[in-house]
Amino acid sequence: KKLGFAIVGLGKFAQEQMMPSFKDCKHARITALVSGSPDKAQKLAAEYGVEAKNIYSYDNFDSIKDNPAVDVVYIVLPVGLHAEYTVRAAKAGKHVLTEKPMANTPEDCQKMIEACKKANVKLMVAYRAQYEPFNLDAIARIRKGELGKVMQITADHGRIVDPTGDKADTWRIQKKLAGGGSLMDLGIYSLNAARYLTGEEPVEVTALEMSDKADPRFKEVEDRIHFTLRFPSGILATCTSSYSTEGVKRYRVFGQKAWLDLDPATDYYEHKMTIGDKDGQQQPKIKEGNQFAAEVDHMAECVLQNKTPKTPGEEGLKDIRLIMAIYEAARTGKKVKV
Ligand code: NAD
Repeated sequence: KKLGFAIVGLGKFAQEQMMPSFKDCKHARITALVSGSPDKAQKLAAEYGVEAKNIYSYDNFDSIKDNPAVDVVYIVLPVGLHAEYTVRAAKAGKHVLTEKPMANTPEDCQKMIEACKKANVKLMVAYRAQYEPFNLDAIARIRKGELGKVMQITADHGRIVDPTGDKADTWRIQKKLAGGGSLMDLGIYSLNAARYLTGEEPVEVTALEMSDKADPRFKEVEDRIHFTLRFPSGILATCTSSYSTEGVKRYRVFGQKAWLDLDPATDYYEHKMTIGDKDGQQQPKIKEGNQFAAEVDHMAECVLQNKTPKTPGEEGLKDIRLIMAIYEAARTGKKVKV
């Protein structure tokens, strides 16, 4: 059975990555669209075979509760709107898949978790890397002990934020809509990876921030932020996040026997793994897979089989709490215990 998904927010990521990926889904199909732009919604509805009566605006979105064609609401709006639409979807009795980062604040994340619990609907955060074959392969190798005892991780995520050239970046430099700067948008991949690679939760963070306040892009949100995480087993992770450097999405895990490098690690379509030890380097053959479809199918399976998603609201909340601790460490210059 294929569950019906309503796509809320028909922006760049929805149109370019997510909607086209539904063709690869076994358990999900697009049955409704929610948009502030009727022309765009109609055009996409025709393209994806969505019935005209299943097009909603942000104003009449709540009436989606009366639409049996919609099982799951997938929120692809700017971060500052995730909480409002998750709560409204839960009140409409619909399961919720929301994009990352989950919300601007831990309080908003809590509200989302509580609303979904109260309505008895599933809540999942779209951490696509946790459904992506190279990342899953890296986790499996680490758990099997292929690298020996893991001692440290480095992770870097950055790109040039360009609100004049890319419309999708306009909200990213507004604190109210983005929650923060590169850390919320990109550094979260480094943070989440450090957590899923170690399988541990950090106990202490340090951070340094550097943002040129004369640059209009960084009036409200940060540019570069470097942070360190200490894990209970003693693993240290050093992560960088940037809005002012050419694109990078990579990490390296350092074990006592070998190191494992994914570069790119969190790209949409291309990944490369290298493993190195005293005898040399090798690049294991791993098959690329559609992480977007795998993620959406996981959400659908959780609804169909009444299971808790692998990346539930609580997973999103953990990252947002840590992000707040990283901001505090950068602001105060002190280590923050978490
Ligand atoms: P975007 O600006 O292209 O899309 C956002 C959509 O929301 C637009 O269609 C816009 O019209 C609509 N919108 C509705 N109300 C709005 C308001 N008040 N202000 C601004 N826009 C409003 O951005 P995007 O890059 O597609 O990002 C959308 C979401 O997807 C964000 O949560 C982002 O973090 C997430 N995202 C995730 C990934 C990933 O790899 N998982 C990649 C890119 C974006």
